Amino acid sequence: MTRRKQIYEGKAKVMFEGPEPGTLVQYFKDDATAFNAQKRGTITGKGVINNRISEFLMTKLAEIGIPTHFVRRLNMREQLVRQVEIIPVEVVIRNIVAGSLAQRLGMAEGTPLPRSIVEYYYKNDKLGDPMVSEEHITCFGWATTQDLDEIMQMSLRINDFLMGLFLGIGIKLVDFKLEFGRLYDEHDHMRLVLADEISPDNCRLWDSKTNEKLDKDRFRRDLGKVEEAYQEVARRLGILPEGAPGDVKSTATVQ
Ligand code: C5P
Repeated sequence: MTRRKQIYEGKAKVMFEGPEPGTLVQYFKDDATAFNAQKRGTITGKGVINNRISEFLMTKLAEIGIPTHFVRRLNMREQLVRQVEIIPVEVVIRNIVAGSLAQRLGMAEGTPLPRSIVEYYYKNDKLGDPMVSEEHITCFGWATTQDLDEIMQMSLRINDFLMGLFLGIGIKLVDFKLEFGRLYDEHDHMRLVLADEISPDNCRLWDSKTNEKLDKDRFRRDLGKVEEAYQEVARRLGILPEGAPGDVKSTATVQ
C-alpha cells in the first residue's frame, strides 16, 4: 500500500487523504464487527464486494437526484469521495420488523410495517450509538430542523428507490442505515449529501421467497455462508467482480 496520510480508521473502512483538496480515498476492509465491536471477525472479500455494491447503489441514487459523496471507484478496494463533515446521526429506515426493533419492543421478526419507520441514533461508539429523537439532535446542535426535514425526505426517497431496486432482484429491503454529511462549495454554501456506504454491512436483505438472510446478520448470528451471502447480493445486482470469488480474496491495494 502506498504511504498516504490516514485521516481516520473505522471498523470497516479507512479514510485517506485524497489526490485533490476536498477529496478522500475510502478504503474498504474485510474486517467485520458487531454488537458495538464486542464481536470481531473477517469476512473474506467483503471489502471488494462492498466497494462495488456501494459504488453501484450510490451511482443509481445520484441518477435519481440524490446528492452523494461518491466520485468514482479507484480500484478493487478503494473509491474517491468528497470530503464532508459527517453529521453524527445514524439514520435507520425500517420496512419490516427485525434486529433492535424486534428486541426492544418484543415484536416478531419479519412482521411487515404498515409504513416505513425512520429512527435516529447518536453516532458514538463509546455510548453504543444510543437512539435519540429530533429534539436531542436539534437541542445539541448536531443538525437543524431544516437539515432533519431534508434528511428525512432524502431517506424516504432512497428507501422507495432501493426497495424497488432490490425487489427487482428478488430481495426484500428489511432495514438499513444511512449517514449524511455537509458539503461546502467554494462560496461556502452548504449542501447535505449522502455519505458513508450502502452495502450488506448496513442493510438487512432477505431473499423474497425464502427470507434467507443475505447480509451481516449471517456474521452477527453465526449463521455461516457469510461470504456467499455478500457475493449473492453482488451477483444479483449484476456486479460480481470478474473472476470472483478468487479475486475478491486479494487484500492488496491495487493502484
Ligand atoms: O440493529 P438494528 O436493528 O437497529 O439495525 C438496523 C439497521 O441499521 C440494520 O440494517 C443494521 O445493519 C444497520 N446498522 C448499521 N450500523 C449501526 C447500527 C445499525 O449499519 N451502527
